[in-house]
Amino acid sequence: MSYSNCIISNKTRLCCVIGHPVDKSLSPIMHNEAFRAKGLDYVYLAFDVDTFHLKEAVEGLRALKVKGFNVTMPHKVAILNLLDRIDEDASLVGAVNTVVNDDGELIGYNTDVNGIISALEAKVHSLKGLKALLIGAGGAARACIVALVLKGCKEIIIMNRNFDKAKLMAEDLSKKLKMNYILEELSMDSLKKAINSVDIIINATPIGTYPNLDESIVPQELIKKDMVVFDVVYNPKKTKLIRDAEKMGAKVIPGYEMFVGQGAASFKLWTGIDAPVDIMGRAVLKALG
Ligand code: NAP
Repeated sequence: MSYSNCIISNKTRLCCVIGHPVDKSLSPIMHNEAFRAKGLDYVYLAFDVDTFHLKEAVEGLRALKVKGFNVTMPHKVAILNLLDRIDEDASLVGAVNTVVNDDGELIGYNTDVNGIISALEAKVHSLKGLKALLIGAGGAARACIVALVLKGCKEIIIMNRNFDKAKLMAEDLSKKLKMNYILEELSMDSLKKAINSVDIIINATPIGTYPNLDESIVPQELIKKDMVVFDVVYNPKKTKLIRDAEKMGAKVIPGYEMFVGQGAASFKLWTGIDAPVDIMGRAVLKALG
């Protein structure tokens, strides 16, 4: 992509992502396309920051008066202690992926929750009364639970490779959220049983991500055509789970839809204007090939 018509001026505002590694991040492509589409004098860069330098990096970004920044692995939790204020959704999830610099006050948000809600709402009219199966107990799973509960999901069946981790996550979140959940061991028998009773399946593990393109946690034959299948993995753009779900006639939500949704919410927080979601989506799909 050429940025030859992008003029950096002495007024250009900086946004960025900090993480380790960040060399595969799609956020710079997505946000720079969005800034250009909206005619904003902003630029977005990726900074590789290791754990040892996180505190200095955050103070540096504050001193440079950046407009805001994204936070990615492995800093989404550690950043909580370095900010001045944490938004309610980010407190619920226990992780921050977006920081806004409001006149020197650094405020942490979790726009993964917005990304999950916008991706789900594009395919499901309402989550009220629906049951979901959630596989995973990491940061993405926590954001999924917050999004599902905020949108009125009736019951969440939670499974994870490490059962104790899922138990801890559910107990922690249920202290802050009114959630109706069932914990199950992750096994073929429990998957079969759970899938018979749910409307939505969510994979919140990295299974199926590049280069393991032929891996899926849910056997194709268990997927039914009247369900919604959401995979948080966004590289490749269609995981095996999503390809299998399409073959079975289910509604699918590939992870890039969540990725664009979280990016659009961050863009709005930094600029105050609605994000050009279609342009951001096209930029991400083009980058994914
Ligand atoms: P995380 O905090 O490290 O959690 C990973 C989870 O996946 C854990 O529950 C882990 O189980 C489970 N897991 C990992 N490998 C597994 C395997 N081989 N078999 C079964 N379970 C396995 O990671 P995260 O931040 O939640 O991210 C998860 C995925 O979501 C990543 O691929 C990430 O790129 C993606 N993501 C996408 C978006 C988006 O915008 N679309 C946003 C955030 C994250 P154990 O507890 O047993 O280890």
